[in-house]
Amino acid sequence: MLNIGHYINGRPLAGASGRSQAVYNPATGEQRAEVALASEAEVDAAVQAAAEAFPAWAYMPPIRRARLMNRFLALVNEHQDALAEAITLEHGKVFTDAQGEVQRGIEIIEFACGMPQLLKGDYTDQVSRGIDNWTVREPLGVCAGITPFNFPVMVPMWMFPMAIAAGNTFVLKPSPTDPSASLMLADLMKQAGFPDGVFNVVQGDKVAVDALLVHPDVSAVSFVGSTPVANYIYQTGAQYGKRVQALGGAKNHMLVMPDADLDKVVDALIGAAYGSAGERCMAVSVATLVGDVGDRLMPKLIERTKSLNITQGMDLAAEMGPVVSRAALERISACIDKGRAEGAELLVDGRGYTVEGHENGFWLGGTLFDHVKPGSSLHNEEIFGPVLSCIRVDSFAEGVDLINAHQYGNGVSLFTRDGNAAREFSRRIQVGMVGINVPIPVPLAWHGFGGWKRSLFGDLHVYGEEGVRFYTRQKSIMQRWHESIGQGAEFQMPTSG
Ligand code: NAD
Repeated sequence: MLNIGHYINGRPLAGASGRSQAVYNPATGEQRAEVALASEAEVDAAVQAAAEAFPAWAYMPPIRRARLMNRFLALVNEHQDALAEAITLEHGKVFTDAQGEVQRGIEIIEFACGMPQLLKGDYTDQVSRGIDNWTVREPLGVCAGITPFNFPVMVPMWMFPMAIAAGNTFVLKPSPTDPSASLMLADLMKQAGFPDGVFNVVQGDKVAVDALLVHPDVSAVSFVGSTPVANYIYQTGAQYGKRVQALGGAKNHMLVMPDADLDKVVDALIGAAYGSAGERCMAVSVATLVGDVGDRLMPKLIERTKSLNITQGMDLAAEMGPVVSRAALERISACIDKGRAEGAELLVDGRGYTVEGHENGFWLGGTLFDHVKPGSSLHNEEIFGPVLSCIRVDSFAEGVDLINAHQYGNGVSLFTRDGNAAREFSRRIQVGMVGINVPIPVPLAWHGFGGWKRSLFGDLHVYGEEGVRFYTRQKSIMQRWHESIGQGAEFQMPTSG
């Protein structure tokens, strides 16, 4: 049995808390490994290592930090498929999707390599006679990242390349569901030449998270996960004086106008609802169908949902893999029961799905509901599985109001051929990331990622320029030299006069 431990101060470390958790291959249902769950003392050791590494790391010229980041970039590119395979074996998503996840992480490292430019301050000559004023952005200290199971490579990479290139040191607490990739990343950081203690990994659960939240030497916490935990992280982190960004759950709508190209809509919905078994925070889980588009769309949607190629993710023909755990399978199945009991029409029921030779895997077929009522559990709650709910609306305005009234505001998309509808939609919609004829509008590295409402607690999005701002604080420096210093004490408020 593989034992997965921590990575602290440049070295892999076995767990010493006596607590651990099983790691499964969701396609076979078999246990693959046992992951350690850190104690407070182990978290403290990681934070101490990061705190000790911080002064020298922050002092290193940004261009030299960027050079190391470039080496890390080359190594991640080299090991892309090994990382993707580790994701597939513990998360279950299909290999090609896992490759895409690694690629999206790589794009953040590429962006972080440009940190010297991003850290450039501004300067005003002669704010008063003989006085200049400028601002610089300085790193915060030890930053922590707490990440979810559904992107074990990409989401950590939203955080640590940015934080570290900006001069911080980092402690990552990945999801214990699929922890292997985090240690591979730590090993690649070591190979790239980052000094010991700059990047650390502690495996764990709530005990480790709480230890990070209250630790006096942790300056900032980036969190991605479910909304109740995001809210808790935000409140607790703030209470302990930390800078916090906490990204939460989602319920993403696709509004389909009657003029949309229906074949393209079907492709987009099938990929966005069932890709990664719906376990993406940007998955489309609600199709909001305007006018008669629902009647025209439904036969195609039913047929494609029933014919999804669902099998183990290392099969390159697989379109969808298993869900992540038996608990997830049971929870999603219960959501389907509840939706039916609330009166929605269950057109395709994915429960009871099996794959030959992998009968113990955590399988669930694509599930399709029509005539879902706004405000019902299928519409209100995040299911995080391969379940697509269709809601019929009479007009564009009704669709926009429905989306704007929702508790979540992560991603949204509109399918139409009407440029004015598209323009109005992007202006009126109360959602952080908008796609026009793009089902999953995950912003590229230089634009930053984040939702609105209960999908994000905090002020700044992750990565992009907002990420640079999150991981640095501004210092303003005003300077004059002796010759221009006035005579005697000045008691009036200094002005530029
Ligand atoms: P989760 O909230 O259960 O876990 C996320 C992290 O928090 C993990 O590291 C976990 O160990 C830790 N954690 C869990 N319960 C905790 C508790 N009570 N106290 C302290 N820490 C705790 O989320 P998950 O199931 O791993 O991931 C799926 C969720 O993440 C979905 O809700 C999904 O929408 C969300 N997500 C959001 C985004 C985004 O960008 N908004 C991206 C990916 C995933």
